[in-house]
Amino acid sequence: MTEIATFPQLHIPNTIAAGPGPGNTDARVLARFANAGLADHMHPDVLRGMVECKEMLRKVMGTDNVHTFGVAGTGWSGLDMMFSAVMPGDKVVMFVNGTFSGIDGLTVRMKAATAEELAENSLDPQTDNVVVINVPHGESVTGEIVEAALAEHKPKWAAMSHWETGSGRVNDVQGFSDACERHGAMGLVDAVSSLGVGDFSIDDYPGVHGWASCPQKGICCLPLTYAPVSFSDHYIETLRATGTRTFCHHPILEARHWGIIDGNDVEKGTYHRTHSAYAVSAFHEALRLCLEQGIARRAADYAFHEAALRDCVEAMGCQVTSNMPSLVVLNLPETMAGREMELVQHCRAQNFGIWPTLSAPVQVRIGILNLLSEAAITDIVTRFAQAIRDLGGSVDQSRVDAVLRQHYSAAIAAE
Ligand SMILES: *Cc1c(COP(=O)(O)O)cnc(C)c1O
Repeated sequence: MTEIATFPQLHIPNTIAAGPGPGNTDARVLARFANAGLADHMHPDVLRGMVECKEMLRKVMGTDNVHTFGVAGTGWSGLDMMFSAVMPGDKVVMFVNGTFSGIDGLTVRMKAATAEELAENSLDPQTDNVVVINVPHGESVTGEIVEAALAEHKPKWAAMSHWETGSGRVNDVQGFSDACERHGAMGLVDAVSSLGVGDFSIDDYPGVHGWASCPQKGICCLPLTYAPVSFSDHYIETLRATGTRTFCHHPILEARHWGIIDGNDVEKGTYHRTHSAYAVSAFHEALRLCLEQGIARRAADYAFHEAALRDCVEAMGCQVTSNMPSLVVLNLPETMAGREMELVQHCRAQNFGIWPTLSAPVQVRIGILNLLSEAAITDIVTRFAQAIRDLGGSVDQSRVDAVLRQHYSAAIAAE
C-alpha cells in the first residue's frame, strides 16, 4: 500500500475582495464564528440564537411574514428553496437580464419540466410552460416589460432578479409586483445582491410572495452560514396544496428548526438538520451589525461611495454601464477595448480581487461590499489606475485626485 501524502496546512491569502461578492466579512462576525463554543444543534442557546436571528431577519427584510428564516448554504440554496414550490407543468414567466437571472431560469426549467422533458435534456431542459423573456445585457427589466409578458402569458409564477449582479442592473421590483398583482401571478424575487445593501421593505411589494437572498453579499457573513428567505402565507398555502419533492429545502419543514410550526412562532425549534453553533453565532452577529448600522444608513453609504468610485473610473476614461449601488460594471477606455479580461487577471494576480462579467460581453466588475470608507475607495481607485498603466494605458491622475477630493471633502463639509 502506498502511503498517502499529507498536504501542508492550507494558507489562503487575504485579498481585497472588490468584486460583486463575496463581501468582506466583518471582523466582529468572524470573531463570533471562531469563538462560539461547540454546542449541539438542540442546545437551548443555539435554538434561542436561531429564534433571535429569525426575528432580526424580519426587521432586516421589512416583513411580517412568519415564514422568514435562513437556509443553510449559499444564495443558490435559498433560491432552490424559493423555487421549490414550482412544480412540473406549472406556467412560469422568467425575466432574464444577466448571468444570475439566467441560472434562475435554468433552475425553474428544471423544476417546471415534466419528467420526459427533463430526461430529454437533463442539464438544460426545455419546456413550453416556462417562458423566458430575455432583456439585453446592460439593460434593466422594466415594469412595462413585465406587464406586457404577464398580460400575454397569465402564468402561475413570475420571477426576476431584484438586482442582476452579472450586468450590475437594478430591476423594477415595484413594476414587477404591480404587474403580478394585476395578473394574479405569484412573484418570486432573487434578492441575493440587494438585501443589506438597498433600503427596501419586502412587505411593500404584495405581488411578490417569495424572496431569497444570500449570506455573502450585503449581509457580509460568508463563513458559510444562512441564505435569508421569506414567504407569504399565500405561497405557503400554495406549497402545502401541491407539495414539493425535497426534504432538505422544503420551506415548511425547514422552518420548524427556526421555531415556525403550523404557521406560528413557537418558543424553540425542532430538529430538521444539524445546524452549526458557529454558523448561528456568526449569522446572529451579522444581523445585529446590520440593524445597529440601520438599513437606510447602509444604503445611503453604498450610494455615496459607489458614486465616488464611478466618477473616478469615468475620469480614467472608462464607460460605466451599471446602476447598482454596490457594484460598478465598466468598459475600459477606447484605446484598451477588448483587454478587460487581461486587466482583471493582472489585478487578481496581485490579490486585488476584481471580476470580469461571467457572460458576454466581457466587462470589468468592481464591487464595494463592506468597503465603505474613503480609504478603501481610494485604495481601489489607486490600484485600478495602476493596473491600467501597467497594461500600457494612461490615466490623468490629477483628474482622478480631483474627483476623490470633491467627493470626500464635500462629505466632511456636510457632517
Ligand atoms: C451571487 C448571486 C447568486 C448566487 O449566490 P451564491 O451565494 O454564489 O450561491 C444568485 N443570484 C444573484 C443575483 C447573485 O448576485
